Amino acid sequence: MTFNNLGFSPALLPLLLRAIEEKGFTEPTAIQYAAIPALLSGRDVLASAQTGSGKTAAFGLPLLQRLSDLPMRSGRTTSALILVPTRELAAQVGEAMVGFAKHLPRQIKVAVVFGGVSINPQMMHLRGGADVVVATPGRLIDLIDNNALTLAHVKTLVLDEADKLLDMGFADELARIMALLPAKRQNALFSATFAPAIEALAAGMMNDPLRIEIKPEPETVLPSSIFQRAIAVDAPKRTQLLRHLVQTEKWQRVLVFVATKHAAEMVADKLRKANINAEPFHGELSQGKRTQVLMDFKAKAVQVVVATDVAARGLDISALPVVVNYDLPRSATDYTHRIGRTGRAGVSGMAISFVSAATAAHFKLIEKRHGIKLVLEQVAGFEPVEVAPVNAADPQGTGGVKGKRPSKKDKLRASISKDV
Ligand code: ADP
Ligand code: MG
Repeated sequence: MTFNNLGFSPALLPLLLRAIEEKGFTEPTAIQYAAIPALLSGRDVLASAQTGSGKTAAFGLPLLQRLSDLPMRSGRTTSALILVPTRELAAQVGEAMVGFAKHLPRQIKVAVVFGGVSINPQMMHLRGGADVVVATPGRLIDLIDNNALTLAHVKTLVLDEADKLLDMGFADELARIMALLPAKRQNALFSATFAPAIEALAAGMMNDPLRIEIKPEPETVLPSSIFQRAIAVDAPKRTQLLRHLVQTEKWQRVLVFVATKHAAEMVADKLRKANINAEPFHGELSQGKRTQVLMDFKAKAVQVVVATDVAARGLDISALPVVVNYDLPRSATDYTHRIGRTGRAGVSGMAISFVSAATAAHFKLIEKRHGIKLVLEQVAGFEPVEVAPVNAADPQGTGGVKGKRPSKKDKLRASISKDV
């Protein structure tokens, strides 16, 4: 498979190819192969594909070809609108679009707008209009309300991570935005799942879409490029073990997931005291700080980022070698999103989960959901001594097999992890 026969115009193909070759793409991914021809032909596309499958280029490249036929917009208008759920994704998608457009004959203006930072520079930047606006829904509406942008000339609408947009409660904002868009436009919707709410959203906004479902093989839901490990350790020893591993395994960059903001601060602090360059990353930090931490991490100026699940979705840190679950994810789905930060685009990565006596049953559930069974390793000097609380309904510790009466603990677990 190559990018040559997907329907790009002969004039633009070499220029787009040059840009993607600079990014190291040699052949299209499955979602790109399926979506690009349809989008280039003008069709609406409704697609689901797993994280890391290359969705950005799947919608971004065709969008650029469509734009190149249009005059540069002026007067607070845009030709293309890409909606994303988070600030980080907005920045990441904007950056990718600028990269793809790098060698095009006409300069493509990409405006990235999101909340949590001052609106004024964003209003200024939109003054002459933009070719592409990448936005989170709330800030987009603020800009429209301030007359900084009109959607009347949008030719292409993309919803990226649409399931997450809905999860984050943006349904009303989306409805408002749809009402402001011209009826005649091209639509692309990308989502990790085709949940009923996504189907309903798509039905309300799309015109005979091509439906694309890139189904990973059940056993490869997690990319095979991720080497998964589990280490048994007592909960109070986890920070020491983490420090030990960072130092002895000489990890240059590690993303560590914890359950709470407090834990993120605490673990980062302890690592710093051991002279490891670590930073916390969570939703209560200022946007400036979050951006700085990510930039430093990408630039390898920060060695360890200790994050809550806000960092688990969509972020693409190229060649991130190691992800550690210091606290286990709440669900099997969160496990996929977290460890999917490594092993991206075929580069191999490692994901390590710390498992204590109290979380062993929960980890078994995650394994069962993914059809995997990891060897529970021990590290010399950190052998666990805690014993699992005895669970009468589950003496073998199978983690609650279907058909058994749920124990108190199963019920508790179910209440905190609805989608395990
Ligand atoms: P998704 O949005 O599906 O999670 P991204 O668009 O963020 O995935 O792409 C994930 C990673 O794969 C990025 O680093 C991107 O540069 C890389 N990538 C995308 N398409 C290709 C390709 N055809 N060949 C190699 N790498 C690719
Ligand atoms: Mg994406």
